[in-house]
Amino acid sequence: MTKTDTDGRQWEYTTYAPKGETCPACGKSIKSLESCRRGMLSCRGSSPVVAYWHTACAPKEEGR
Ligand SMILES: [Zn+2]
Repeated sequence: MTKTDTDGRQWEYTTYAPKGETCPACGKSIKSLESCRRGMLSCRGSSPVVAYWHTACAPKEEGR
């Protein structure tokens, strides 16, 4: 019963970033028509913040 997306909790989905979003991995802005990964940036001591990464820049879960 856990055959599908149970491992993907870090990434909500692949989507398009709102204008002006910056990829936290490479520090470059994400173009509005560029597909990207939406995820949560957890800051210590504060609430997680939604962030967008280039699909190529998205960190692998196992690398944490
Ligand atoms: Zn990037």
